[in-house]
Amino acid sequence: MHTKFLLPLLTVICSLLAASPALSNDELNDGPYLIYQDKTVIEKNISSQGVTEASYQGPLIIPFEFQPAQSDEYSNVKKLAAISDIHGQVEIFKALLINNKIIDEKLNWRFGEGHLVITGDIFDRGDTVTEALWLVYRLEQQAAKAGGKVHYLLGNHEYMVLRDDQRYLHPKYINSLNYFNHDLRVMFSNNTVLGRWLRAKSTIIKINDMVFLHGGIHTDYVDLALSLKQANNHFRETIGLGKKALNDNAVWRTLHGKTGPIWYRGYFREPVIKDKNLEQVLTYLGASYLVVGHTSMPELETRFNNRVIAIDSSIKLGKTGELLLWQNNQFTRGTINGKQTPLW
Ligand code: ZN
Repeated sequence: MHTKFLLPLLTVICSLLAASPALSNDELNDGPYLIYQDKTVIEKNISSQGVTEASYQGPLIIPFEFQPAQSDEYSNVKKLAAISDIHGQVEIFKALLINNKIIDEKLNWRFGEGHLVITGDIFDRGDTVTEALWLVYRLEQQAAKAGGKVHYLLGNHEYMVLRDDQRYLHPKYINSLNYFNHDLRVMFSNNTVLGRWLRAKSTIIKINDMVFLHGGIHTDYVDLALSLKQANNHFRETIGLGKKALNDNAVWRTLHGKTGPIWYRGYFREPVIKDKNLEQVLTYLGASYLVVGHTSMPELETRFNNRVIAIDSSIKLGKTGELLLWQNNQFTRGTINGKQTPLW
């Protein structure tokens, strides 16, 4: 080909690659976004036509305040399920919950007094983040009524979104942001229902002898000598803060650092934590097992003689995934078809 044509052609190709993939009209549908306004709640829904606003009429129950859990430690829990890194893939999330009998076909809670733990990263990458958030929101209320509990723990992507890091947003949400001043801190402000709800969430919890969190616990965390409640309160205080503010506080710098609970990968990747340091971590937490997401695996895996259970099963790829089940001292792998086998 003549070079005269090559350069313009390359320019066109580059600009096509740089532009976000064209979304169909339906793919722009997003919402509801619920916003507190005086004593009412306003509902915003986004479509290719723009945004509609109306006073919210239900069916969700919308409190004006969300309290952090009284305790971050739970004992005598009889059965539980855990899933991680949903990353905007609500269809896989639903299939896993339905086929493993956590919810019914109509998406209603059927796990009784069981606990469902989501170890962070519902946000980013995929295009059904809003749907996944509202599903968790609703299940949390239904579970509480049944004597069970839903724990939505915050991962690094929750903290990133809440401080307006737009790098991993699906293009659909870039469009939605047109109606929120192009700022995720507006979209999920403390004046929004989801924003207020997220601000009450914990990051690390303990159930029976298992500790759940997004990334992992390193001995740097142990050195902070915090209780779970203190750590969760610190994490809540940092919601929305930028990198500089996080770095200016020694505790926050560690919590949000590479070895911090929402980022650490050292159970799986170099430099891998030493056995004796992992023992130190487990002893400090008074736990037998650590259940973590964040580091993607093809399926549920364990490390360190089953002390560490990895539950980021690559749902983000939009193809399949797994969830962890536990009952009667037995850990079980729950597949997307509902087939359940012992984890070890
Ligand atoms: Zn993560």
